Amino acid sequence: MPNPPAGLCDSCRHQKLIGTTRGSVFSMCLRARTDPAFPKYPRIPVGSCPGYERRLSSPPAS
Ligand code: SF4
Repeated sequence: MPNPPAGLCDSCRHQKLIGTTRGSVFSMCLRARTDPAFPKYPRIPVGSCPGYERRLSSPPAS
């Protein structure tokens, strides 16, 4: 879970969590890879998003 929480992204299947060696966790949007309309690192917390799709399973541990 990113700190602070990323809002909608935290339950979205397009979120990828990026951990740093300092212990911070950033919320990356994978949709940004294929659609420039989505920022790679959206301003959080995200309250609404046209690309949101609910994640059905837990993200793989990173
Ligand atoms: S598609 Fe939207 S809700 Fe999903 S990770 Fe990207 S910015 Fe967040």
